[in-house]
Amino acid sequence: MTRFRTAGLIVCTAVTALGAAQPRLARAQQQAAQQHAQQQRPAYGAIRSAPAQNSAFAARPAATPVSTSSAPAVVAPQAAAKPVAAAKPATACHPEDFRVIVDVGHTEAVAGAMSARGATEYSFNLALAQDAKQALLDAGFSKTVLLITDQAPPKGLITRAAAANSEHADLFLSIHHDSVPDNLLQTWQFEGQDQHYNDDYPGYALFISNDNGDRAGSMLFGDLLGKELEAHGLQFTPHYTLALMGHRRRELVDPVAGVYRYDQLIVLRMTRMPALLLEAGSIVNRQEELELGTAERRAKTSAAIAAAVTEFCTARARPVVSRPVIAAKPSMLRTGAVQPPH
Ligand SMILES: [Zn+2]
Repeated sequence: MTRFRTAGLIVCTAVTALGAAQPRLARAQQQAAQQHAQQQRPAYGAIRSAPAQNSAFAARPAATPVSTSSAPAVVAPQAAAKPVAAAKPATACHPEDFRVIVDVGHTEAVAGAMSARGATEYSFNLALAQDAKQALLDAGFSKTVLLITDQAPPKGLITRAAAANSEHADLFLSIHHDSVPDNLLQTWQFEGQDQHYNDDYPGYALFISNDNGDRAGSMLFGDLLGKELEAHGLQFTPHYTLALMGHRRRELVDPVAGVYRYDQLIVLRMTRMPALLLEAGSIVNRQEELELGTAERRAKTSAAIAAAVTEFCTARARPVVSRPVIAAKPSMLRTGAVQPPH
């Protein structure tokens, strides 16, 4: 078991399973109080306005300039006449060298949304993250780690991103389960307790931040994961585009895979590697909550994650294909129109 602690945050390869099953009645009052407290806060991990330049994590490596020289590049005729070695074939993904961080959303004490039957989002997140980690280990991603913290947000969220950055992770996936804005919740009785539900918007949703250190990589992984989730029989929810979502309304940047843009999420905007947040389904939807609590549903999502990570690792392992140098004509050389090969 690899385990270390960073300012209250635990990164470990094995944790005690809590499971989705909850001692519901005994904790109902406490959970209701937590839920009330949650309702007073912004959505998980969001900061309403935090320009990147004010962030301690804003200093990212500058993008490598394509070219800053105004001088025309020329290719010497003798060099251009020589055949250049053909591009190497695509390199295989090496999963044993590819580090995936599976972030368990929220904490045991500040547990996120409450399900239609009074279970905490954290319990669903932990159970799915553990299964996803196992699926990744089975697929050869032996460096996969769970990221768990007991630090409350926002400090805990910043610490998660800092840990992922210091670990030089190749991919960051934050596991969550969805709810709806409070004004869309209805009340019912479950086991003698008032609980809140909304049966209208089942399905998963994916989120990326344009402020992430590798936005293109995040988009690519989101596209791959969304397509794998669909291939495993799951559907994304389109309701984040609706006006009734208010300040939680989001731009759907990949309408095939179900990827939304949510720039302000701390764990996405402060991580330097490709990062994605998965809302695996709606736990306030009474039918979907039951499904999300089963090993079968977790297995579908975990298999989709493992397949998408494998595809992403392969895509990232592929070297930039260089083109053979084209012999330049002397007239082109004189005008400086020839650019160096990529
Ligand atoms: Zn959450």
